[in-house]
Amino acid sequence: MKKMNSMNLQKVKDFIFSRKCSICGRIVNETGRYLCVDCCSILKKKGQIKNVENYFFLFYYEKDIKNVIADYKLKNRRNLSIELGFFVKKPLINLIKEKEIDIIIPVPISKERYRERGFNQVELLLETMNIPYEKIEKIRNTKHMYDLLDEKSREENIKNAFYNYLDLNDKNILLVDDIVTTGKTIQEIINELYKNTNPKNIFIFSIALSKVFKKI
Ligand SMILES: [Zn+2]
Repeated sequence: MKKMNSMNLQKVKDFIFSRKCSICGRIVNETGRYLCVDCCSILKKKGQIKNVENYFFLFYYEKDIKNVIADYKLKNRRNLSIELGFFVKKPLINLIKEKEIDIIIPVPISKERYRERGFNQVELLLETMNIPYEKIEKIRNTKHMYDLLDEKSREENIKNAFYNYLDLNDKNILLVDDIVTTGKTIQEIINELYKNTNPKNIFIFSIALSKVFKKI
């Protein structure tokens, strides 16, 4: 009997959590939605495209967007891709047109991370927005970059972790990630893309950019 009660309590807790807005915590009435209408429109307003050289992004990685991305990736709220698409699609499509992008490449995750999470968060987002992409591979598992504090170990961690088999000669490339922290991962991908091919330009788009980001 006692066991039943705690199971029921967990169900009630799960149910309440499953209906809370990822930002303000208010109950969202629409099923399968994780952001309330107010938070959604605030994000849309705040998410204007910004850039630092070739890096384009919508938000600094803090507060609201941090919660949304964490819930999307780590708390099994895959449907957040629909709400993310709501404010990512327009600025991303505009950037693709403006820079005459030929090929979009999402930052890959390793097989191990894929097993752990069940999906690549950037690929799913692009699919939700009906934006076609090409893949490169992550050929070995790496530690989470945020666990590594100094630049040297971040560099070592990611070195030779990617493999590209696409022909990118003379193409404008857009790399897409959810969060760019220091840019070390992106730089390693860029190195790999230039190994066997010769892209015309490489641009980067991320939903959020960390304030610790500095140009390498
Ligand atoms: Zn809300």
